Amino acid sequence: MIELSLSEYCLLIVCATFVLVGLFGWISSFAHRNAERRGRKVRFVCDLCLTAWEDHGKEKIVPCPHCGRDSERSG
Ligand SMILES: [Zn+2]
Repeated sequence: MIELSLSEYCLLIVCATFVLVGLFGWISSFAHRNAERRGRKVRFVCDLCLTAWEDHGKEKIVPCPHCGRDSERSG
């Protein structure tokens, strides 16, 4: 067991906190980017009637539920 003085112990806690905060920020930004990319794949806005809707299917071309105009899935 390594013996730490109080100041070394405090420094270690401060360093660990910085690492954890940085890691958490990195993970949450990664998750946010992922959610945004997923959102673009399922969310559509019709060019013609501006209806917004979500489609969770796999089709590349999705027709507008209001006017029937085809929208292309991005990504
Ligand atoms: Zn439409």
